Amino acid sequence: MTSSKLIVANHKMNMTSMDINQYLKKIKKEINVENVIICPTSIYIPYFLKHIFKVGIQNVFYENKGAYTGEISPRQAKSMEIDYAIVGHSERRNYFLETNQEINKKVRLCLKNNLEVILCIGETKEEKRNRKTEQVLEQELLENLEGVKEFENIIIAYEPIWAIGSKKTPTMKEIELSIRFIKQIMKKYYHVDNIPVIYGGSVSEENVQEIATIPKLDGVLVGGASIKEEFINIAKTILKVDKNEQNSTNIPKTR
Ligand code: PEP
Repeated sequence: MTSSKLIVANHKMNMTSMDINQYLKKIKKEINVENVIICPTSIYIPYFLKHIFKVGIQNVFYENKGAYTGEISPRQAKSMEIDYAIVGHSERRNYFLETNQEINKKVRLCLKNNLEVILCIGETKEEKRNRKTEQVLEQELLENLEGVKEFENIIIAYEPIWAIGSKKTPTMKEIELSIRFIKQIMKKYYHVDNIPVIYGGSVSEENVQEIATIPKLDGVLVGGASIKEEFINIAKTILKVDKNEQNSTNIPKTR
């Protein structure tokens, strides 16, 4: 059964080629790889393309070709049969000083090249403390998606920056409210109904059951835990919750 909930694994700059063989063996044996989008460190992408049906790139450049040493373009990614690109991850925004305008250029070039965009947005700890979460989400959605007309190939990842790699998460209610807010904004400004919104930030085998049942949640983006054995349990939990939801919506309601 294909899942309607997305499970995205962001390996970041982890693992070596030796680790990857083991990893591939384990996850292929334990979970239906069709349901998982793996975003490996770029040089390892070909290993995953051979085995996993859905592969994403962790970052792209905002030009299709040229003298940009070390960069990878959306066109190059697509030519390798990569289908997804993470854009605007907070580590790119923080360490590489990516601006909303650059992220917007990346989003638009990905869409032009038929790459599905996983756009990461979210507030800092301070912004949360100052109750600015909604303001930040709205501004990022407006600036990162400016000029975009087609939304079928966009997934929004709500990733509170303070929750990434910190073993802390918002409350389930807070995640639910942010997801609803993002969907409302997408409807208000872009007239898009039901854009997929996934949650990322310290998802683990301990909290995934609770996270998976948040209303309107369309999946998870897993960073640190995606390179560990617990990723198998995380994926299995998401798939199980999804299957139960699909079965319960198929049961005809009796009056
Ligand atoms: C991420 O890097 O997008 C992420 C969600 O990381 P972690 O799961 O480690 O918090």
